[in-house]
Amino acid sequence: NKQVILKEYVSGFPDESYMSLNTTILPLKLPEGSSGVLLKNLYLSCDPYMINRMRKLNTPSYVESFEPGTPINGYGVAKILDSRSPNFKEGDLVWGRTGWEEYSIIKATESLFKIHDTDVPLSYYTGLLGMPGMTAYVGFHELCSPKQGEHVFISAASGAVGQLVGQFAKLLGCHVVGSAGSKEKVDLLKNKFGFDEAFNYKEEPDLDAALKRYLPEGIDIYFENVGGKMLDAVLLNMRVHGRIAVCGMISQYNLEKPEGVHNLMHLISKRVRMQGFIVSDHYHLYTKFLELILPHIKQGNIVYVEDVVEGLESAPAALVGLYSGRNVGKQVVVVSRE
Ligand code: NDP
Repeated sequence: NKQVILKEYVSGFPDESYMSLNTTILPLKLPEGSSGVLLKNLYLSCDPYMINRMRKLNTPSYVESFEPGTPINGYGVAKILDSRSPNFKEGDLVWGRTGWEEYSIIKATESLFKIHDTDVPLSYYTGLLGMPGMTAYVGFHELCSPKQGEHVFISAASGAVGQLVGQFAKLLGCHVVGSAGSKEKVDLLKNKFGFDEAFNYKEEPDLDAALKRYLPEGIDIYFENVGGKMLDAVLLNMRVHGRIAVCGMISQYNLEKPEGVHNLMHLISKRVRMQGFIVSDHYHLYTKFLELILPHIKQGNIVYVEDVVEGLESAPAALVGLYSGRNVGKQVVVVSRE
């Protein structure tokens, strides 16, 4: 059983040397007396929050640090090889929390969702139809109360979450602008995902001026993925009664000390609602989300771009690549295609 191990806690900016590949023996049946399920992992998801689990956390968090010397874990798509759970049987396909390894024994099966619809690519359950898709849905539809014609701005817009937020907003008839870190990503936003405007934030010396240029009437909804200077610039451009879904702040995750935010006072005069959220608090809405999104995918109204690498040995580099924007679209690792 090939595994990706966390060698030691990450300090500073991460690179793949903090992880190593290891091989152990795992029985292809659940051992006597064992509970849960035995999984064959097919696709693994690289997600930005994982870096926080690779550090020794000094403050309480909604997730715990990984244990050095053990396989890291995250979201993935897998096939059940053996089950002692009444909810799953051999051959079922699932998505949810699993190990970064070829095979995993999962005792807490409440974090696994059965996959019923296989007319779509299975890897989509690491992204569009899994945790990041739910994040886009909850953050935009449930928290931001969007209305037709509103002005929506999304940062890290071409990523796993952002590309879907933008398409949801377009389907609702909003004016949608996104920022991303390369020309290729900006082209995707405008030509593939149907954003009205997009810009490369790395080429904009003055983010406030850029936002005024692309969103001259201001921002009703900001879907926050990056934090830092972008948030400060957005605060200067919010409209009265605007909403900000604070989904993530990836620009801050690898800093020793987070940057200060200076323009929060604008929340008052503009009566802006700014709300953080954790997607796993909202998984009871998963069926509602699927009912909304599956028809759109099948009718071609929603498309999805993935950045797929092959093999567990490619996983460490793919994961750390998120923090320099190397991924174009949802970062997926193929462990096995069947
Ligand atoms: P992405 O697929 O968007 O990948 C991360 C992207 O972030 C990179 O490709 C890069 O894009 C951008 N980025 C990396 N470093 C920086 C930086 N220093 N400054 C600005 N941008 C940077 O990731 P996801 O779509 O999976 O996640 C997006 C956000 O959503 C993250 O902040 C994540 O933590 C958060 N999240 C929150 C959840 C919740 O429950 N609250 C659940 C899931 C995700 P570019 O080239 O455009 O810079």
